[in-house]
Amino acid sequence: MSIPNVDIVVAGAGIVGCACAWKAAEAGFRVLVVEPRDVASGTTGAAMGHILVVDDNPSIFRLTSWACRLWSELASRLPPSVAYTRTGTLWIASNEEQYVTAKKKHIQGQRLGWNTELVSSQGLYELEPLLRPGLAGGLLVPEDAVVYPPAAASFFLAMARRYQARVVLGRRLVKITPHAVTLDDNEQIGMQWCLLTSGCEVRQLLPELPIFPRKGHLAITDRGAPLVRHQVVELGYHESVRSDAPVAVACNIQPRPTGQLLIGSSRQHGTQSTDVEWSVVRQMLARAIHFLPCLAGQAITRIWTGLRPATPDGLPVLGPCRQTPGVFVIAGHEGLGVTLSVASAELAVNWLLGKPSPIVIEPFLPERFQQQVSALS
Ligand SMILES: Cc1cc2nc3c(=O)[nH]c(=O)nc-3n(C[C@H](O)[C@H](O)[C@H](O)COP(=O)(O)OP(=O)(O)OC[C@H]3O[C@@H](n4cnc5c(N)ncnc54)[C@H](O)[C@@H]3O)c2cc1C
Repeated sequence: MSIPNVDIVVAGAGIVGCACAWKAAEAGFRVLVVEPRDVASGTTGAAMGHILVVDDNPSIFRLTSWACRLWSELASRLPPSVAYTRTGTLWIASNEEQYVTAKKKHIQGQRLGWNTELVSSQGLYELEPLLRPGLAGGLLVPEDAVVYPPAAASFFLAMARRYQARVVLGRRLVKITPHAVTLDDNEQIGMQWCLLTSGCEVRQLLPELPIFPRKGHLAITDRGAPLVRHQVVELGYHESVRSDAPVAVACNIQPRPTGQLLIGSSRQHGTQSTDVEWSVVRQMLARAIHFLPCLAGQAITRIWTGLRPATPDGLPVLGPCRQTPGVFVIAGHEGLGVTLSVASAELAVNWLLGKPSPIVIEPFLPERFQQQVSALS
């Protein structure tokens, strides 16, 4: 059966591709989604689902703030399976130095209109009584949330279908030329734009883009009485994200509506293997137990890994590819792809329509890497 030409081919049905398919189809484009495996079978199926504002870079602060607002506006339309829950994020300061960092974030947040609450040491234990004694305080971000990413991706794709998007599973894009894509059975489909949302596999189609896998482990406990109510993250988490070390771990604990706790997180460079590495799991669990000692008595029911699509500067890649006309890249979201899925989709579709977005796209354009290469040569 041959597939008719379309306006937009979306390459990959992870959460980013599904959100793009929805927003593009809703805007009136004829959309085709191509996915070699199943919906959310890539990194999305391995993610934690924390929806959060990140403030360590002005561009990413603006983008994540907008993204969280979009999720919040969407919340009442999401089905129960997505389990959107406003847990808030409780950033933990282990010592006075980190408490000063929390204070600075709070003051800066107030200037920027970011809703945060500075939490004293005593206040911390009122919020989370089971944390280990001796912590210096923290920063509460009450509007952060959590979702179940595979269900969110499926919902976005169902919305896309409602606007007549077509979905082809079990087929892969193998080539993109200006205004046509070729699938792995040699079928060619004409299109105006290919939205490249193939996560860690983007380089198979655009080798020049520096998107590489950054491995992460997660563990989940058995069901039981909830031990924490907020997503509890140590303030040192941002250092683990920026770290060049072969293995970096940080305490990141998420309460699930089932009473389970999802425990992260680890980051590894230089590996494409998705095997569970027990030495990394031990470091990650030890870090979580260091902050929440009662975890030591909890049964872990499953441990898994995923590959985050990372970039050298830690920013996602959003924008048209100058070398291959007709390709618009939406990838490289590292540990923020769930948070940024809807915002990235809106940004892309607004750009295609020539409509303004509340966020400027320039810091995220793919050509920034080309400029770096030119500057070095
Ligand atoms: C351990 C871990 C924890 C995380 N926690 C969070 C979190 O709490 N919050 C958050 O915001 N983010 C989190 N992330 C990051 C988030 O999961 C990713 O950024 C996001 O899932 C990326 O989505 P994607 O759609 O770009 O990629 P993917 O989900 O990988 O989807 C890409 C799809 O493209 C398909 N594909 C590949 N090649 C082709 C081709 N040639 N043609 C067509 N299709 C193709 C693949 O099969 C795949 O389904 C976490 C990630 C990990 C690993």
